[in-house]
Amino acid sequence: MATSVATHCPYCALQCGMHLVGPRDAVSVVGNAEFPVNAGGLCVKGWSAAATLTHPDRLVTPLVRDASGTLAPASWDDALATIVRRFQEVQQRHGRDAVGVFGGGSLTNEKAYLLGKFARVALRTANIDYNGRFCMSSAAAAASRAFGLDRGLPFPIEDIRHAKTIFLAGANIAETMPPIMRYFEAQQVNGGKLIVADPRKSATAQWASLHLPLRPGSDAAVANGLLHVLIREKLIDETYINERTRGFDEVRQVAAMYWPERVEALTGVPEASLVDAARLLGRGSSVMILTARGPEQQAQGVNNVLAYINLALALGGVGKPFSGYGSLTGQGNGQGGREHGQKADQLPGYRRIDDPAARRHVAAVWGVAEDAIPGPGKSAFELLDSIDADGGVRALFVVGSNVVVSAPDARSVEQKLRALDFLVVADFFLSETAQLADVVLPSAQWAEEDGTMTNLEGRVILRRRACDPPAGVRTDLDILSDLAARLGSARHFAFRSSRDVFAELGRASRGGLADYSGITYERIDAEGGVFWPCPAVDHRGTPRLFTESFPTVDGRARFHPIAHLSPAEAPNDDFPLFLTTGRVLAQYQSGTQTRRVAALCESAPEVVAEMHPAAARLANVADGERVTLTTRRGAATFKAKVTRSIRDDTVFVPFHWGGHQSANRLTQAALDPVSRMPEFKVCAVRAARAVEKERAE
Ligand code: SF4
Repeated sequence: MATSVATHCPYCALQCGMHLVGPRDAVSVVGNAEFPVNAGGLCVKGWSAAATLTHPDRLVTPLVRDASGTLAPASWDDALATIVRRFQEVQQRHGRDAVGVFGGGSLTNEKAYLLGKFARVALRTANIDYNGRFCMSSAAAAASRAFGLDRGLPFPIEDIRHAKTIFLAGANIAETMPPIMRYFEAQQVNGGKLIVADPRKSATAQWASLHLPLRPGSDAAVANGLLHVLIREKLIDETYINERTRGFDEVRQVAAMYWPERVEALTGVPEASLVDAARLLGRGSSVMILTARGPEQQAQGVNNVLAYINLALALGGVGKPFSGYGSLTGQGNGQGGREHGQKADQLPGYRRIDDPAARRHVAAVWGVAEDAIPGPGKSAFELLDSIDADGGVRALFVVGSNVVVSAPDARSVEQKLRALDFLVVADFFLSETAQLADVVLPSAQWAEEDGTMTNLEGRVILRRRACDPPAGVRTDLDILSDLAARLGSARHFAFRSSRDVFAELGRASRGGLADYSGITYERIDAEGGVFWPCPAVDHRGTPRLFTESFPTVDGRARFHPIAHLSPAEAPNDDFPLFLTTGRVLAQYQSGTQTRRVAALCESAPEVVAEMHPAAARLANVADGERVTLTTRRGAATFKAKVTRSIRDDTVFVPFHWGGHQSANRLTQAALDPVSRMPEFKVCAVRAARAVEKERAE
């Protein structure tokens, strides 16, 4: 272990720069003041990140389930031989697609790339997808449709500082991503305004100039209402619309139906607040519209985002400095993880797997026949849901994901996993998903291997190896290459390092939308990260997209007429409230890492359900008592926090815990028809004071 190694945080998409300092058994974290995104700032998750490296729960030997049903230590050779034998048996009996692969949005670009190649070349299965489908897929699909390209922020994060008005839909960044607040604070000091749309008056909303407390599931109506006022008050940019877009007339007709009084009835946002927000947007000289999981994690998530993009286009800011539309990506490599081939419909470089030219290009890089690459597979939830169905997946390889906690309707997902013929999980802790596996492979953590990540701006950064993995632990790249060799594909996986994998990723991405072919580890080091697309080593990278044109057939962006639809489950007499889920500061995603860090558990030891005093009164629950929440999928009991900072028809529950503390045992799997995003943010729920047995849980 070097005394100080510059690397990046293992958690969210800000990918804050940090130094790991000290010997392996006493390693600590110091913020990296030279990395421009966080300039030394970290949140509590980042400060405590080193605790996972030396945690006593680390898996340090493969585990194989024995005849008694116990996960018992095994040699690597035995574990990998078992996997290959069982995968081959399943494929011989049920076809190649009966083995599925499930990746994650926290994997490095190299791992995401190699996992996609492993599925298509070594296993030759179509069925690979990843947990980013549960996170950023709606924003990605909407941006691709409107602009011809999806990059979370198509501008550098620095732009936030200079925007006159920012509209932030469904993000509580003050709690979940605190170092980003320095940009918003600077924007405020510069005289800028922030509007936040959120069913909760979150820490971010409390800090904003204006809060729109919308009803869960009503984003498209809010966006259409804002556009209605902008059109009525002649605050749109007709020149930009005429010169750089198509389709506004249809959108104008739809917006005409969303007058503020009607929007108040649909959304709960007071008419006066809606008009104030529209005027702040229309009169700002540079306006930025940002979305996050609030509008995106819905069965109409793509439409919600398209409605917000309509606003950004009508205001004429997309492609101009300090303006436009962006999505705040959540997972650490949520951006890069969706570009290089671990999605069911995708090949590296953000290429479509059903595009003959894309298949030809990638087949040539991989050295395989074009028709040997399978076609599109099942999306994440559909892959899991197919497990006990005819023609479905019978064996599954999960890498860096904890679907038992993070998938919607989690109890049914757990039952599906139990019904598999064979389950393999690669992880560094025995997650709730790993506990169900037939074979568990102990893999290296973030600071124990080199690899690139792509942050929420599209900046490719290098996460450096700072220490060796514990004895007995192998990297995912090593595991995939070994398995591929045992499956007969050794020559396609002859990599000596992550640098080798990145070089091939660059070639595979060349000419694609997400072109990394000009990026090298050396350039990342020298330049503090490189923004894609970067198609040549002498290309400067692309911090700002869409400045002259859009990558569509005619170079123009597309408006989309969006009619607001009701959520899949509306409250009724039996389930009278909305349930919405989200995150808290001290936990991350399914909690596999953060629930093991003492400092974080002290701060957020359990699920706390937030509810308004009016809802608490009806449920007969006092602050601090236990409340049982029941949906059509099941019930769970949590500690109640009674607060006026949430709508009186909505209960909020964070989703970082498993077992009887699992919020996702309550959520539903209604999927967006385009992105296949589940509706995590809205379902109908009943709340009641816990009875004695439930209180003990
Ligand atoms: Fe890590 Fe995100 Fe916190 Fe930065 S904001 S320290 S990247 S979790």
